[in-house]
Amino acid sequence: MNELAEVAVDAKHPAIKGEYYYIVPEHLKEKVQVGSRVRVPFNNKIVDGVVVRFLKQEDANCNFALKEISAVDERFVLPQFMLDLAGRLASYYAASIIDFLKLMLPPDVSLPKESLYSVTEAAKIESLRSKIQKEVFHVIRDAGSITSEDISKILGLSRTKVSGALSALMKKGFIKREFRVKIENRSYREDKPKSNFPGLTIEQAKVLNEIIRNMEEENKPVLLFGITGSGKTEVYIKAIEKVLSKGKKALVLVPEISLTPQMTERFHERFPGKVAVLHSRLSDGERFKEWYRVYKGDADITIGARSAVFAPIRDLGLIIVDEEHESSYKQMEFPFYDARQVVRFRAEIQGAAVVYGSATPSVESFYKAIKGEFAFLKLTRRVTGKPLPPVEIVDMREELKSGNKHIFSRKLCSEMDLALSRGEQVILFINRRGHSTFVLCRDCGYVLRCPHCDISLTYHISDKKGKCHYCGFQVKAPDTCPNCDSRNIRYFGAGTEKVEQEFKNRYPDVKVIRVDADSTSRKGTLEKMLWEFKSGKAQVMVGTQSIAKGLDFPRVSLVGIIAADVTLNLPDFRAGERTFQLISQVAGRAGRGNIPGKVIVQTYCPESLAIKAACAYKFKDFYKEELINRKKFEYPPFYFLMNLTFTGTNLTQVESAALKVKKILEEKVSPQVKLLGPIPAPRFKVKDNFRYNILLKSRKQESLIKAGEILKNMKGFDRKVHLSWDMDPQDLM
Ligand code: ADP
Ligand code: ZN
Ligand code: ZN
Repeated sequence: MNELAEVAVDAKHPAIKGEYYYIVPEHLKEKVQVGSRVRVPFNNKIVDGVVVRFLKQEDANCNFALKEISAVDERFVLPQFMLDLAGRLASYYAASIIDFLKLMLPPDVSLPKESLYSVTEAAKIESLRSKIQKEVFHVIRDAGSITSEDISKILGLSRTKVSGALSALMKKGFIKREFRVKIENRSYREDKPKSNFPGLTIEQAKVLNEIIRNMEEENKPVLLFGITGSGKTEVYIKAIEKVLSKGKKALVLVPEISLTPQMTERFHERFPGKVAVLHSRLSDGERFKEWYRVYKGDADITIGARSAVFAPIRDLGLIIVDEEHESSYKQMEFPFYDARQVVRFRAEIQGAAVVYGSATPSVESFYKAIKGEFAFLKLTRRVTGKPLPPVEIVDMREELKSGNKHIFSRKLCSEMDLALSRGEQVILFINRRGHSTFVLCRDCGYVLRCPHCDISLTYHISDKKGKCHYCGFQVKAPDTCPNCDSRNIRYFGAGTEKVEQEFKNRYPDVKVIRVDADSTSRKGTLEKMLWEFKSGKAQVMVGTQSIAKGLDFPRVSLVGIIAADVTLNLPDFRAGERTFQLISQVAGRAGRGNIPGKVIVQTYCPESLAIKAACAYKFKDFYKEELINRKKFEYPPFYFLMNLTFTGTNLTQVESAALKVKKILEEKVSPQVKLLGPIPAPRFKVKDNFRYNILLKSRKQESLIKAGEILKNMKGFDRKVHLSWDMDPQDLM
């Protein structure tokens, strides 16, 4: 008898979050299952929870009165493998099971439900006397499970008669009722399957064969290292077809769904009616329905960004992680999970195959591939047979010396003249939004800063305001210096708005669009802009990293990278890697169609290896050198990291809390764990909160997992200081 249920409870406060026992009341006995979402009394409130297991009264071993489960959501039950996954993740990231179960649950919206009837084993049809009941019973038995609406349609009987018969049959215990979400027959995309899809190139076919062979034999994760335009997506599609033919399902993760409209389009086209797309811009109702389709097994392929890794897919055969190097796979806030790591666990639990794909793999994955932990497959040629576009580096120091103070070098200008006069398209890339990164008084040196954060305000020309890119604080940009009244105010450090403005000054008749977080905040605008560019309505596109990924515009012949140093100078050990990836990805947008492409990279630091290697397409040089440095400075993949962040409004409290925790860790963790800090975080002050970091480094990840456990269980910690621990941090800022 399932007398008690252990429920993972979603308590507000982390210290009391955890699993608790509850009584399953008689009227819910049939309904509550392992994996059910329930409502339970907790701390004088009713909160959400998920049943993780059942146990007997005598095994509970508790001598106080337990409370009862108050309600259960009958629409779904999380499958056991999801509970297992949540458990694995909770211990890896030192969080509670419920923190991950929450990511797996659909939004709690009330959608219309309908009842489904099916026959029970106890049913004895011979004993039935009523003709209607007999007929109804037969219909149910033949259908397996059916709604009362459909029964009345089939029998041509009124709804009242049918429901009378149904309740009589229920009373006798001949039939049982289940609820399901009512999904109207809304038109899922019914694209016509096109017939003329490309056959694979020899290189693609080889890679596909290897993927399939690997799936059937050793089943190692695969790293597919394929240059931009080499046809990785086509390989994914074929591998998925293979998996589907075996009755299994596929999950495709992409960095951000709104940036990959072309990719989702392709999947819809190739697998009409079988694709579910989970993305952040869905309303709760839409999200529930899409989630429920996946849950019911009605979608063969689920596509989504990071959080889609928690989609309730049964019989999962293959997981694709496209653009695997993208840091957006990491959730930068609690519980700090990394979808790429979740994929590993999930694949293990469900026995699925994994393909990580990228033109610029992360250093960690590259290392795993050369060490043989991943199967290493390569696509070295573009499908079109066209070479990668030549890249030219422009040293901006030389430009300055020769008197050019503009943000466009002479070389870039002459290339733009040429491309525009030929009617070709141009992409200008700068990884910073706004107009200028800081506003400075030439006379007294005053810089406009955020009063709440440790950062200067970025000037935005559209509304003539200084804005904080950490907290959103904004002020009207002053005409005179607030400090000395001077009018000698200057704007430094270019962003997208400035590039757009300077472009317009130079080419007033050319249509240009700007794609960044400011210009695309409204739903649908990004898609619209990309379409405008694709269709040729705009000849030039200025943008941030949102335009670096996966886009395929065949008429782009010139790509200009305005300031390659922006990412290079960030205080983060991955700055070189990020710069290398960004340049390679942006460069890959040029020359994809029939016209040859060209790339101009402007930099103040042309001797940097990340820039040099990216511009010469010397991938191996970069990884080789980067691995040497990572080893020397003890960073991943040679060392595992965990970054602790202490946050609070009082600087002294933050500092002393950090020191206290360091001491505790020094006593308790393995001596081979290195504790660096506490030091003020690179983002030292955000929204009036001071931030300190301690960085843990270890050759053995086990020791870091243990450290996380210690932190999670730490009692009597300063309540005015918030502490977070980030396993495998992607961002040390
Ligand atoms: P990647 O994902 O590696 O950047 P894609 O899969 O997007 O490359 O392929 C680039 C372009 O080449 C797409 O327009 C795609 O339709 C096309 N393509 C891919 N494979 C083939 C093929 N075997 N024959 C012809 N065209 C192909
Ligand atoms: Zn001044
Ligand atoms: Zn701020």
